[in-house]
Amino acid sequence: MKKHNFSAGPAILPQEVIQEAAKAVLELDNMGLSLIEISHRSSEFMAIMEEACILSLQLLGLEGKGYKAMFLQGGASMQFLMTAYNLLENKAGYVNSGTWSTKAIKEAKILGEVVELASSKDQNFNYIPKGFEISSDLDYVHITTNNTIFGTQYKTLPDTEVPLVADMSSDIFSRSFDYSKFDMFYAGAQKNMGPSGVTLVVIKESSFNKVSRVIPSMLNYEVQANAESMFNTPPVFPVYTVLLNLRWIAKHGGLEGVGAQNEKKAALIYDEIDRNPLFEGFAHTYDRSHMNATFNLKDDQQAEIFDPLWNEANISGLKGHRSVGGYRASIYNALPIESIQVLVDCMQEFERKA
Ligand SMILES: *Cc1c(COP(=O)(O)O)cnc(C)c1O
Repeated sequence: MKKHNFSAGPAILPQEVIQEAAKAVLELDNMGLSLIEISHRSSEFMAIMEEACILSLQLLGLEGKGYKAMFLQGGASMQFLMTAYNLLENKAGYVNSGTWSTKAIKEAKILGEVVELASSKDQNFNYIPKGFEISSDLDYVHITTNNTIFGTQYKTLPDTEVPLVADMSSDIFSRSFDYSKFDMFYAGAQKNMGPSGVTLVVIKESSFNKVSRVIPSMLNYEVQANAESMFNTPPVFPVYTVLLNLRWIAKHGGLEGVGAQNEKKAALIYDEIDRNPLFEGFAHTYDRSHMNATFNLKDDQQAEIFDPLWNEANISGLKGHRSVGGYRASIYNALPIESIQVLVDCMQEFERKA
């Protein structure tokens, strides 16, 4: 029986996407060949890559606005380095809102001066820093729109003329807003987009050629863009599966459709966290993530009563990250609201039993 999958990443994908991807591994579109044994330069795969790039921009509302979408390798972690390689000439500002931002800062420092504009480390990253100054001499400002581990998410973006760059790994394609506020953003696929092994990079074409250093080809956005994400052999299976998922999102009303559903889902879990006297939410209310809900027991000892309940209810992947403890319900696009209801029922049964 299929479990209720609350995994933080790699994470749940729509059942129909997994089934269609599995079919294509056996045979792609009656070709007599598997998706994973054809040339990436075949017309069939080129069409897949092209549609994935175009559909990404369409869903984000960026088609025809001077942006390029690319599918690269090395994960979001490689983008920590690549953003700085391509965009950091003098000085960049970073907001430190968690583990992933901390890692992004570390990599950027290899290439130039990094100013930490604000940090929420003082409270174990349970909020999004706000109201900080952004001086106009920065090459760019880097934020992490959703902090997967701590369960916080930007609800309003920093207001600045300085180019905005973002790690959107865990909330890409989850909500509708004005993506043209960003000059560049990236997302590892395995949270809300597809299987691991590929990373979406969206960049304004005017952001090429911003630095004087020599950039190795594989790390050069312009080289990758000119090669249409095929400077080297792309990861064909993840790209195809991402495409299937993008089509699924389009079919479900695009970002407005999935965004409205994600709001309902988040309200269901957070209402119970707030109502149930045995739990407390981790993140500040305003900053709570609609993708990763973090919460703790008021009395850790009671885990021995609560844990068997959700285990028996076929729930998987609920354990919190070690830096927060407690629980994390990752409720990405593909997680049905019914699965959240099963979790809420467990929390209420726990209240009766404890
Ligand atoms: C998971 C995650 C990463 C790391 O992604 P990799 O693809 O493993 O490098 C970076 N940033 C955020 C916000 C994440 O959730």
